[in-house]
Amino acid sequence: MAQYNCLMCGQEFKSYNENAKYCSQTCKGTAYIKYQWKKCEQCGEEYKPRKASSKYCSLECSNIGRKNKSADKQSDCISVPFE
Ligand SMILES: [Zn+2]
Ligand SMILES: [Zn+2]
Repeated sequence: MAQYNCLMCGQEFKSYNENAKYCSQTCKGTAYIKYQWKKCEQCGEEYKPRKASSKYCSLECSNIGRKNKSADKQSDCISVPFE
């Protein structure tokens, strides 16, 4: 049995599992949600977001994405109905 530090809460725990990363199912679940892979809305690349609310893989993509979004908003003003 080896000792590990939980990647989520930092607490020390012991496990028989060599690949153990979390002290409990709760920490595992939280980590999964928090560090879930996301697809960048700009380039489509998969990345691990640092924030649950992030949408882009990099600052670059975020800048481009934001620019595109504001351009979308402008064209919305002359809106052509889709339906
Ligand atoms: Zn933990
Ligand atoms: Zn990207």
